[in-house]
Amino acid sequence: MTPNNDSICFALGMKDSNLIWMDYFYAFINLAKGTRKKLYPDIRKCRIYEFKLRNQLISCPNCHHRRLVKFGYSTVQTVFTTDDASHPVFLRIHKQRLRCKDCRRTFMAQSNVVRKYCHIANKVRAKVTMSFQDDRSLESIARDNTISPSTVLRYLDASRSIAPLYQRQLPTNLAMDEFRGVHRQLHFICIDNDHHRIQTILPDRFKRTIENYFLTFTPAERSRLYTISVDLSSYYQDIARRLFPHAEIIIDRFHIIAMMTRAFNQYRAQAMKQFPKTSRQYRLLKFSWQLYLKSATNLSYEHEYYDRHLRQKVTSGERVDLGLAINDRLRADYQFLQNVMQNLKQRNLDQLTESLYPGTELSPQMTAVLHTLRHNLMYVLNASRFDYSNGTIEGINRMIKQIQRTAFGFRNYNHLVYRIHFRQMAQKKNQAA
Ligand SMILES: [Zn+2]
Repeated sequence: MTPNNDSICFALGMKDSNLIWMDYFYAFINLAKGTRKKLYPDIRKCRIYEFKLRNQLISCPNCHHRRLVKFGYSTVQTVFTTDDASHPVFLRIHKQRLRCKDCRRTFMAQSNVVRKYCHIANKVRAKVTMSFQDDRSLESIARDNTISPSTVLRYLDASRSIAPLYQRQLPTNLAMDEFRGVHRQLHFICIDNDHHRIQTILPDRFKRTIENYFLTFTPAERSRLYTISVDLSSYYQDIARRLFPHAEIIIDRFHIIAMMTRAFNQYRAQAMKQFPKTSRQYRLLKFSWQLYLKSATNLSYEHEYYDRHLRQKVTSGERVDLGLAINDRLRADYQFLQNVMQNLKQRNLDQLTESLYPGTELSPQMTAVLHTLRHNLMYVLNASRFDYSNGTIEGINRMIKQIQRTAFGFRNYNHLVYRIHFRQMAQKKNQAA
């Protein structure tokens, strides 16, 4: 039984009526390139499909005369997709040549399987481009498709035209942040906070770069912006105020809480070090520190457990009270932290403002935080007025970190940006499904 042309073409997924199947066989081929061919040969058992490609030209494309004669074949070997990278697949295509009797030019047959002057099938190219959406390194993609990493990189560069990198319009709700990328440099990123799309990524986070980007939009477009979420650094606030005079600035509520917990922990450690390491007070402050940062409403006064550091049975509520009884300032810090956390959560604007003016004296660390919060009072209150935060952008930054880790870092800023966009395309698809 001889498999016919149609079934072979069907199995390989090729649609070109000019391709005529001739043979298939195994062959041992040295896949090393250039000078490595002799020094470090990479001989592998390959599957070869042999085809003839008919030339269907009727008239000469150059002089339009119809005196074309057959002029032999020229053979090319094309890398094809394979399900098993240890057995690469090659297409050996004999392309028919025709020669014009008038102008003596020759014309080689072309197919839609492989581009002109190309030795890698279009299918491989499509597969590689799809692979960019996955969390994997260029080397691994190259190995899977029996092509070189530099070819994969070239395809990545060429993929620029596939999807528009950035949004052309400004969204109504924006979030700004930065991430560490090429050469440990900080890159600016901002996203559409409603649709969770990357608005833009800029190579650095200098004021001028950011302003130049946003100034490409008309003042009317910029005035339509409703909210901007930023972190507590005054850097982005200045930019936001200048470029978007009508937008509400929101300080990310997670940043507010992170700043306060950091201050609390610093003072807790300081208070702890006043006691000898063997003392009960030291142990009370050192261990189970997560309980202090938990919302007070989540602490229990009923469920007892054995605390091995204190060697006694306590409830989580009692445990916190025991620790706070040691230091008055720590207790004041704790009250302040809990009040702000709760009012932020419950969207209690009046009480949130009130809690920023505590009657008791706080630790120096917490006082510094308090001053920052009071200084940005309007924006802090916005954090509890609006639903928007920097949560999504932090998630995207985490994804970017993962991409860089898989690739062992990037040296080229554009390549990093392309990979980020491909990865986001894949995640958008998953969300839609
Ligand atoms: Zn001609």
